[in-house]
Amino acid sequence: ELKEAKGEIQFDGVEFRYGDGPVILPRMDLHIPAGQTVALVGQTGAGKSTLAKLIARFYDPSAGAVLLDGVDLRDLTQRDLRRAVVMVTQEAFLFSGSVAENIALGKPGASPAEIEAAARAVGAHEFIESLPEGYETDVNKRGGRVSAGQRQLISFARAFLADPAVLILDEATSSLDIPSERLVQQGLKTLLGSRTALIIAHRLSTVEIADRVLVMADGQVVEDGTPKEL
Ligand code: ATP
Ligand code: MG
Repeated sequence: ELKEAKGEIQFDGVEFRYGDGPVILPRMDLHIPAGQTVALVGQTGAGKSTLAKLIARFYDPSAGAVLLDGVDLRDLTQRDLRRAVVMVTQEAFLFSGSVAENIALGKPGASPAEIEAAARAVGAHEFIESLPEGYETDVNKRGGRVSAGQRQLISFARAFLADPAVLILDEATSSLDIPSERLVQQGLKTLLGSRTALIIAHRLSTVEIADRVLVMADGQVVEDGTPKEL
């Protein structure tokens, strides 16, 4: 039973393989204190997404345990887990429907005022207002008026509204123009706030705002330090 999650993450001898495939994470011990912003970097196939997905419990470890505030994720209800841990995926994908509906997915039943407040917080309100039908604009409208950066901001607003203790972000690899990148970076800072965050980072600017950088190779953490040290 988890009342209000603090967001401390622990990997306790975690081993992981997909089905009966090869071992992807050999044996991982990792402690992320509540409130820490961790940037995760490493080559393709290193295991970054796998590690991130274990925290969001897309999968269970083959051995060992992943703990949130000292509680094995397997002992949490689906509801408590979804409330405590939110994962923003690489594609920052949006569902068909309006911008407002897409943001509201973060908190079912959210009022228009709450939706707008979340959008304002992450810096998405201005561009949303400039869309043909504002918050009612269909995000998948043909002609794709919503750019990659704007999609990321919408997904940030959704996550902000959900207000999880732990945020997992698989940063989009798609390059943004400078103004969009600046907006997204600013939105990200607000979204991070005081929550625990694990960011699979593709941008140097993201690594620089992290408290800690983990470098992964072959399913293991090979370097662990501050951005300055690394
Ligand atoms: P990238 O930077 O390309 O996103 P990554 O560091 O996120 O890479 P993972 O996606 O975690 O790496 O993959 C780690 C290993 O697990 C790779 O060898 C990959 O082929 C394998 N893998 C990933 N997803 C699956 C899956 N669903 N089923 C089987 N093997 C998988
Ligand atoms: Mg990945």
